[in-house]
Amino acid sequence: MTLLFKVDNDRGQAWKSLFQCHAPDIDVRLWPDIGNPEEIRYLATWQPPPDVHLLLPNLQAIFATSAGVDQFDLSCLPPRVEVVRMLDPGIAQAIVEYACFAVLALHRKMPGYLAQQRQQQWNVQPWVAAHQQRVGVMGLGNLGMAVLDRLRTFGFSLKGWARSAKQIDAVECFAGTEQLPQFLGQCDILLCLLPLTRDTRGILNASTLAALPRGAKLINLGRGAHLVEADLLQALDSGHLEHAVLDVLNDEPPAADHRFWLHPGIWLTPHIGAMTQPETAFEVLLANIRRHQQGETMIGRIERTMGY
Ligand code: NDP
Repeated sequence: MTLLFKVDNDRGQAWKSLFQCHAPDIDVRLWPDIGNPEEIRYLATWQPPPDVHLLLPNLQAIFATSAGVDQFDLSCLPPRVEVVRMLDPGIAQAIVEYACFAVLALHRKMPGYLAQQRQQQWNVQPWVAAHQQRVGVMGLGNLGMAVLDRLRTFGFSLKGWARSAKQIDAVECFAGTEQLPQFLGQCDILLCLLPLTRDTRGILNASTLAALPRGAKLINLGRGAHLVEADLLQALDSGHLEHAVLDVLNDEPPAADHRFWLHPGIWLTPHIGAMTQPETAFEVLLANIRRHQQGETMIGRIERTMGY
């Protein structure tokens, strides 16, 4: 059974060592040294090479090394090739850390206090208790649920929104486009953890941002293309939104003259929310390969028609 990794060299070596140690029956190859392409059954990569199904004629599954698969052109892949996303527990842990950092920083008014410090001001802003702070999470999947589990411990008033209806302990849940305005109207802090699909592209736009309460804050941990950047600037500049924390952008890095760099209402981080670590992701990948070998359904399989 042959598994090809198309990843950067250091990570490739780390993956290969893990397989050699724990699953020596799997022949691991590192791109571009693919050997006989007909032998390759599995590919693990962030981005498959063009015409991958022609290059690797016996390919059975592609494992994304990321939680999202929006970078894949699923329409080009033949139906026989299964696409599986990464459910690395290390990704969930890292996203929970980032989400808690951002929600707590916004809840405790850190952008304003940091600006005050630069102006040598010592002013106490009005106190808001956690139970008065309404925090809404868009996307109630693997990551959104992990974030809500941790945010619950702070006592926030939690809301959640997904495509399908859910019941989650201590979270008021909303579903589908018809309940989106109702959900948004109750989010003092909105956190996006949606996958990027044809339905969610540009979902953070003038109309959805306008549906947030005045003074709301936005955290985007999903993908840059969820956000219409000009609409965010408009919402911040008009004072409707107070602050945004953005880990993902349309162009990463943004152009040197992009207004986000120096905007006082924006904190930017260079897509560091989470990164797949071979050490924590290995068991999940191996378990999925074993499932596939035994004819079982793999965990994290993409529903092609939905795009996630
Ligand atoms: P999942 O597939 O587990 O969950 C996706 C959630 O989004 C589900 O609850 C789903 O609803 C909901 N959803 C999908 N489409 C819609 C829609 N049209 N309307 C409403 N809800 C929708 O994904 P993960 O939680 O694992 O990951 C989410 C995303 O986080 C990734 O796709 C990636 O873009 C981003 N990410 C960012 C990282 C970073 O470093 N910043 C790192 C890792 C991931 P339902 O439950 O009804 O199906």
